[in-house]
Amino acid sequence: MDLFQATEAKLRYLLPSSRIGVMGESTLGRHIYFATVGSGRPHLVCVYATHAREWITSLLATEHLAYLLQMQFRGRVTLVPMHNPDGVMLATKGLCSVEDAALRQSLTEINGGDDFSLWKANARGVDLNVNFPARWGQGKGNRYAPHAHGYIGKAPLCAAENALLASFLLRTAPDGLISYHAKGEVIYWQFHQQGRQKRRDLRFARALSSACGYPLASPGNSTGGLKDWCVSTLKIPAVTVEVGADSLTHPIGANALPQIFRKTKELALSGLRLL
Ligand SMILES: [Zn+2]
Repeated sequence: MDLFQATEAKLRYLLPSSRIGVMGESTLGRHIYFATVGSGRPHLVCVYATHAREWITSLLATEHLAYLLQMQFRGRVTLVPMHNPDGVMLATKGLCSVEDAALRQSLTEINGGDDFSLWKANARGVDLNVNFPARWGQGKGNRYAPHAHGYIGKAPLCAAENALLASFLLRTAPDGLISYHAKGEVIYWQFHQQGRQKRRDLRFARALSSACGYPLASPGNSTGGLKDWCVSTLKIPAVTVEVGADSLTHPIGANALPQIFRKTKELALSGLRLL
């Protein structure tokens, strides 16, 4: 069973089908799932595996889900265990995960070879975490042609995976969001907030920081990220949590999962209490 099928199976094992939803289909037609625990407000959304090689976070998602199912809490958590399923399949299974021969050929050229283990983008070479309309295209590491990482896409939200996630978030209007990445054990929270919004978002980020022990990091030159868009458009507190010690090498293997889970298992509930 591949990682996509395993994630699907784990969701079905843990939850009744009424608690599992599909946002729509990825570029290559894979389901983008979401799973809900609890009900009502506040509503926190947790997003995993936006970057392909950070697929360890998909394993983390189902661990977090199992943990949340054992807890009593007020409000609701929605988990999106695999935001970028095509990218995750490329990074874990390589080109055999792509049916179309012409696409296999162009991906090989973009990647400069057939080892996709460090690939971050989707199946069109768009980096999902620079493709949101939040100072789009103004970031330091931005690229302007398809690439393993950093390509902003032809237009904001041109990536199917992002259009689906953005419309889901606009429709459900959550109160907060955690975007899981790897690695470095830090939390990013800033995106040009001012005044009350800044104080509120800092409180949210500090609560998460004390729950997992990861320090807050000063903003890099991030633009177009999911967290950036949530802060600037939805006006909700949103953070990027980088799991896994910096000493680990990409891709972080499943053997690091128990330690990452131990440190991060309380994050969602700590966040929810602040919303
Ligand atoms: Zn990442």
